Amino acid sequence: MMEPNLTIVIPCYNEGAVLHETMNQLDALMKRLIEEKLISNRSKLLFVDDGSKDDTWMIIYKAGLRNERIRGVKLARNVGHQRALLAGLLTARDRSDCVISIDADLQDDIEVIREFLLKFTEGYEIVYGVRDNRETDSFFKRNTAQGFYRLMEKLGVSLVYNHADYRLMSKRALDELSKFEEVNLFLRGIVPLIGFKATSVYYARKERLAGESKYPLKKMVSFAFDGITSFSITPIRLVLFSGLIAFFISLVFGVYFLWLKMYGSTVTGWTSLITSIWLIGGLQLIAIGLIGEYIGKMYIETKRRPKYVIDINTYQLPQTAFQSTGSKRFNDENLNMNLTQFQK
Ligand code: UDP
Ligand code: MG
Repeated sequence: MMEPNLTIVIPCYNEGAVLHETMNQLDALMKRLIEEKLISNRSKLLFVDDGSKDDTWMIIYKAGLRNERIRGVKLARNVGHQRALLAGLLTARDRSDCVISIDADLQDDIEVIREFLLKFTEGYEIVYGVRDNRETDSFFKRNTAQGFYRLMEKLGVSLVYNHADYRLMSKRALDELSKFEEVNLFLRGIVPLIGFKATSVYYARKERLAGESKYPLKKMVSFAFDGITSFSITPIRLVLFSGLIAFFISLVFGVYFLWLKMYGSTVTGWTSLITSIWLIGGLQLIAIGLIGEYIGKMYIETKRRPKYVIDINTYQLPQTAFQSTGSKRFNDENLNMNLTQFQK
């Protein structure tokens, strides 16, 4: 059998501080894998610039001048990790037998890519990279993340525990992934739904090489919330359930109140009255808000907006296309102009 054509997809948002090192390490690894005949010599590194404000795209583009293995996709604006990743995966699908996704900060051990490939040759279509420790994450991140996986499990969403977006997918799996049309992307939840033969590979997660986390608390919370509401309607069921309970309780109380009116005194009771008004009012607002959240999601989904827009794509460009731009001075304008010419 021919060696598989591999593309490694790396989403990058303002990763200028770490990108050179990431490229060097991944390229060196790829070279070794080619020598070991584990992958074809036409394999590529595909960096997706997710609308960075720093020199990320320049770094990607310039690296392509020297190295035919390094290619890039520049998104027209920042669309977030998940969509940037999808843009890369779907671009890479055209000419890869398998695709591996990894973060730009190399927190995930790149040596296990070799194991990914061995599993792929054994016939697995999806290989999950799973961290077997979280010692390098902060106490806070570790606990919130673990709480999140537990909560998702309780809500009936099947996730691979401690697996982020470090995984291998075969072309066939990517073809199926492309059929999931949701705009609210949560890849970790979608990939297990594909259902092809899958396995896990374990590794220790490291510190970020350089630069800062692009997932501050605010983004983490909204990511988690997105994950839940995209995959589970259990929260809506809980609302219905609590509504039913409240209804039955009020029936019981109703009978009791009637009894009081007939046989006792009903002057007091202002406290319970005012408390229940506030309690029920609060519950109703929460319930409406929660349902609104789902309706909002439907509203966004029905628009079917594209999940990303690709500005420049050098993935399929031969080295010669780069060379003809090589002599010119590097500034954004003539660079992009030259490339757009070649894309046409
Ligand atoms: N990222 C992206 N777009 C964004 C935010 C992040 O493409 O809007 C990329 C980022 O460059 C990195 C990956 O997503 O390659 C994961 O981000 P990060 O390492 O900051 O997250 P953490 O590991 O802290 O969860
Ligand atoms: Mg990271």
